[in-house]
Amino acid sequence: MTDRSNDPGRDEVLFLPLGGIGEIGMNMYLYGHKGRWIMVDCGISFGDEYTPGVDILTADPSFIADQKGKLDGIVVTHAHEDHIGAIGYLWQELECPVYLSPFAAEVLDHKLNENDLDGEVSVNRVNPGEPFRVGPFEIELVPVCHSVPEANALAITTDVGTIIHSGDFKFDSDPLVSRFLDEDRFRALGNKGVKALVCDSTNALDEGATGSEGDAKAGLLEQISKLENRVAVTCFSTNVARLVGLLDVAAQTGRRPCLVGRSLVRMGSIAQKLGYLPKGVALVNEEDVGFLPKSEVLIVCTGSQGEPMSALARISRQEHRHLTLDSGDAVIFSAREIPGNETKIGRVQNRLSGQGVELITEKHGMIHVSGHPAREDLKRFYDLVRPEIVIPMHGETRHLLAHRDLAVDYGIDQALTIRNGQIVGIVKDGPAKVIGETHAGRLGLDGDRLIEIDGSILRERRKLSSVGFVTVFVVVNRKGEAVADPVVSSVGVLDKAYEGDVAKEAEDWAWDALDRVPNGDRTSDKDIAEFVRRALRRFFLNETGKKPIIEVNVTRVKR
Ligand SMILES: [Zn+2]
Ligand SMILES: [Zn+2]
Repeated sequence: MTDRSNDPGRDEVLFLPLGGIGEIGMNMYLYGHKGRWIMVDCGISFGDEYTPGVDILTADPSFIADQKGKLDGIVVTHAHEDHIGAIGYLWQELECPVYLSPFAAEVLDHKLNENDLDGEVSVNRVNPGEPFRVGPFEIELVPVCHSVPEANALAITTDVGTIIHSGDFKFDSDPLVSRFLDEDRFRALGNKGVKALVCDSTNALDEGATGSEGDAKAGLLEQISKLENRVAVTCFSTNVARLVGLLDVAAQTGRRPCLVGRSLVRMGSIAQKLGYLPKGVALVNEEDVGFLPKSEVLIVCTGSQGEPMSALARISRQEHRHLTLDSGDAVIFSAREIPGNETKIGRVQNRLSGQGVELITEKHGMIHVSGHPAREDLKRFYDLVRPEIVIPMHGETRHLLAHRDLAVDYGIDQALTIRNGQIVGIVKDGPAKVIGETHAGRLGLDGDRLIEIDGSILRERRKLSSVGFVTVFVVVNRKGEAVADPVVSSVGVLDKAYEGDVAKEAEDWAWDALDRVPNGDRTSDKDIAEFVRRALRRFFLNETGKKPIIEVNVTRVKR
């Protein structure tokens, strides 16, 4: 990496994504100018079979953590996990003021409390129309529509020009929650001149325009009006717009709403505290649902992605403390199936339908809309902002490329697709260029520590889970001759009920191998261990057709 990338100059703005480009999740973007940096968003992603035992992932912030004295602040666009969720986990690496809307600040406060960081973080509540300075950057929040209250784009102004960082956004004529996208302000910024637009690509493959939250509410009303028994709707816990819509649907259909699932209850209480839920809404506690007639209940619950510990998954296994669903009840899946979650969702749906519960998904009607701009929305946004450069973000590779082509077809001067870790130099006159690259890794929360996803711990854990583990203990004398029976034990290799004979045989092989260690190798414990390991590898390959991890421990006694 060049020194220049480490030290952004007076005449340039550097843009460096550490997470969020080439993926949907763990957003973490750095902007550098005049030797200083700011971070925009600091979010998480979720683990999968590649990360056994690790559920929460973050981008690796070491580029900026190694020079954290130059980081003037973190600015958060909105309160979704993929934008705000990592601040608590990465706090020791970052330690700088955080700037965000009052709603996002309330969500952050809860998270910091969970991370035992009460009072440690300088949390600055900022509002649209009130520009503020962070280091050499002048920043203004500009309201956009999204599924959570107080979502904002950022207008970041420097000597080089203004850059708009869109955050997650959509146009919505009936957003149910928060304000409309501030078209006048974006147009005014466009009139003054926007150097670059760093822009949401989630739906860049989708033709047309994204539907309104109001349409999703109407669709849910239509479905729920037809149902006579208990109804449960599952959606993302952070989708406050959907929650507001459902509360209205409950009121219109004579049902009492009950929020179920820890994250949903918390989000509901924050939304209620800040005035985003309808006034006078009376939520029912889950313990009391059983006392209401079935036709008067609307359960809103977590678990739209089939998460095994979620409220809906527990209900489907009939393990929920207070709630059950029976034949004739219905579950509405009011969320997109995130690719990779189909199996988990299918498992929950199979259990429910096996119990006679009716399933209602997107196939049955408009019961969900996205919070992100489709192709016509992106063009509508370009019309307002008229940027010289578009840099697609918040998308997988295919979304980024589709977004780039759309921007070029529209007539944007330059559309630049990059990957995490690439450093883009933006200057006053002329095109933006990739001027360097830094490490862009991922960290995983393993218990209460952060580990590298591509490091040895998870590499071993992945291997272990597919081939198992064998330990061998051998005792040798000063000359390197075996003086006790070798002991072989295994995990995930031999069936516990029958392993005795095979383990015995393995121990005989180990004895035999110890006899055959070449004289020159007997002085070294490491050489003895390696010789035995190879012999046992052959044994287990013959016996099982697999190559378990084999660890040989040599103890040398003084006789
Ligand atoms: Zn979002
Ligand atoms: Zn997002």
